[in-house]
Amino acid sequence: MSGATGALTADPTWDLLEDDTIVILGRAREYLSGLTDLIEECERDRRFPAEIVRPLVDVGFIRGPIPISDGGLGLTHLQSASLMEEAGRAWASIRTTTNIMTLVAELLSHAGTPDQKKEFLTPLLSGDRLGWFAITEREAGSDAGAVATRAEPLPGGGYRLSGVKSYITNANHGDFGIVLATVDPNLGSRGITAFLVERSDGYRTIEHPHMPVRAVSSCDVELDRVVVGPDRVLGEVGRGLSLAMHGVNGGRLNVSAGCVGIAQACLDASRTHVTTRKQFGKQLAEFQLVQKMVVDIATRTAAARELYRSSARLLDSGIDARVACSMAKYFCAETAVAVATEAVQVHGAIGLTEGHPVERFFRDAREATIPEGTSQMQILQIGRALLGVSALR
Ligand SMILES: Cc1cc2nc3c(=O)[nH]c(=O)nc-3n(C[C@H](O)[C@H](O)[C@H](O)COP(=O)(O)OP(=O)(O)OC[C@H]3O[C@@H](n4cnc5c(N)ncnc54)[C@H](O)[C@@H]3O)c2cc1C
Repeated sequence: MSGATGALTADPTWDLLEDDTIVILGRAREYLSGLTDLIEECERDRRFPAEIVRPLVDVGFIRGPIPISDGGLGLTHLQSASLMEEAGRAWASIRTTTNIMTLVAELLSHAGTPDQKKEFLTPLLSGDRLGWFAITEREAGSDAGAVATRAEPLPGGGYRLSGVKSYITNANHGDFGIVLATVDPNLGSRGITAFLVERSDGYRTIEHPHMPVRAVSSCDVELDRVVVGPDRVLGEVGRGLSLAMHGVNGGRLNVSAGCVGIAQACLDASRTHVTTRKQFGKQLAEFQLVQKMVVDIATRTAAARELYRSSARLLDSGIDARVACSMAKYFCAETAVAVATEAVQVHGAIGLTEGHPVERFFRDAREATIPEGTSQMQILQIGRALLGVSALR
């Protein structure tokens, strides 16, 4: 084991990881551990911490999984997901933010033209420009193929975009976004195309405060006849949904790992609480029922970690890992919810107090079963693969 990260390498959950992965994680943990005051302030004020995007990039977030030839670090899926576990453990808002920006970077790296990479990807990977991704609409949630935002082709080339996207992470803070819109509603999902849209193009954002991840915004993006040139099509016309699917496994894996981070944080807090608080003249840790709660948290967290890591290894080996990533997303997200609920119980009233870390873990865990495919969508996809019949429609 490398000694480069000092005492941080003593974490037993890192025991079977490669030395270079431990170095990357150690650097990220060291940076994230210095954010305690910022977390408190941003959670209280619902503030997006734009000032830390560049340092996050510096320790490997966002550019991690991008190939070196495109300005990234060329990390493996296991390494990138492990970074997301660190983010989830420290502050789920950071996991959500970096996950979306990583998706934007991956899609640009995969399908961008050299000019698009220069204009959008390079500044994203240096933390100079922030990006968002918009597929969801009020009437197109789990059913992403129902996207109705219109991209009307213009006679001289280019497109006029009209529609409203919903729940778009950090759109009010971003400089540009990827918008999925249809060039012809009669074509169904085969008309859906990805477009790059810049703030100066004239879209409007409206923030809707939400319960979890308070240092992340959730926005409507209103596109009212926004005109973009033909050079803003990302990938091929009509291939927007397949392009989005390109990032789906990595996105699910990242959420899974972030959930394990939340679960680990719940375990850390619970161990500290039960060994320091006394009732009936004894430490809480001495009561069998309390031990069971902490043991359940630890066991579920360990199982979830193994599942996301094995899915990451499958992805890294090039084997079709769609079902594995769906299983990881389903299991890890539901585990985070269960574990955070148990951690509140371990803490008693103080765990429900605003500003207490466990209250934040509980709110943030609740997010995980909804974006990147709800738990029900994961079940339906796993069921179709296992049983050969679709129960989706
Ligand atoms: C914190 C957060 C961040 C997000 N960020 C983004 C973003 O950056 N960009 C973006 O495009 N979107 C984003 N989303 C939106 C997210 O992708 C959608 O919320 C998600 O796809 C689910 O859609 P919905 O909320 O409309 O729920 P619905 O699709 O309306 O589902 C409601 C319920 O019905 C269930 N359901 C639906 N269809 C079926 C079915 N066929 N069978 C069984 N059950 C079904 C669902 O599982 C769910 O339980 C974000 C959401 C959240 C919460």
